[in-house]
Amino acid sequence: MQMTVLGCAGTFPGPASGCSAYLVEHDGFRLLVDAGYGAVGALQRHGDLLDVDAVLLSHLHADHCIDLVAYSYARFYDPRGTAPLLPVYGPPGTAERIAAATGSGRQDWLGQVFDWRTLDGGPRQIGPFAASFVRTNHPVECWAPRLEAGGAVLAYTGDTGRCEDLVALARDADLLLAEASFLDGPGNPEGVHLCGREAGEYAARAGARSLLLTHLVGAWGDAAATLAEAKAVYDGELALAEDGRTYRVGR
Ligand SMILES: [Zn+2]
Ligand SMILES: [Zn+2]
Repeated sequence: MQMTVLGCAGTFPGPASGCSAYLVEHDGFRLLVDAGYGAVGALQRHGDLLDVDAVLLSHLHADHCIDLVAYSYARFYDPRGTAPLLPVYGPPGTAERIAAATGSGRQDWLGQVFDWRTLDGGPRQIGPFAASFVRTNHPVECWAPRLEAGGAVLAYTGDTGRCEDLVALARDADLLLAEASFLDGPGNPEGVHLCGREAGEYAARAGARSLLLTHLVGAWGDAAATLAEAKAVYDGELALAEDGRTYRVGR
């Protein structure tokens, strides 16, 4: 399994990175996990625009889903002919959310592009990926996926405040991709995001073999401080997610 970061900026794009989007691949199957601002641009730097086999949206905040609007046009109007119907797994209301964002509010043509599949917390088989989910602690319904294929495990927190179920999500994972939007300290709102220390603590408790910190809000944060927070509590392999970089997951 491998995972390429198509965008890792939190909340709004940075000068050199779009928002949450990750291309997870195994055995030639390409799963786009989240599709925040800039995902469709970045996707074209890593293969054919249409070469995506399924999409999985953790939640419907714009920084995780909005480029599905752009992607609907890219697939629907592709001059090579109609692209195959693309399965899109997302929380309840995904079709309506994307339709509203197109401005037309109509879903009929989107139904010719996307095959909407609603997440309800139950496990799903998505191509070669056995996917299971944890409901996170976030202002909107957010499903954090654990993806297993070929003996490798990738866990992704989506967006979340403190959430005990993250330990099960990341149990013995080869890679935990964890949001770390906040810096540790007083005044962070409850139930929205993690800080670097919290991400590191969950990774340590879960026995995750490596930890990538993502969803940092570059313009407001301090990446070095976020990394140091996690490093103080987690002694596995640790780094900040890098835009455009591909990471091997498992052996
Ligand atoms: Zn977000
Ligand atoms: Zn969010």
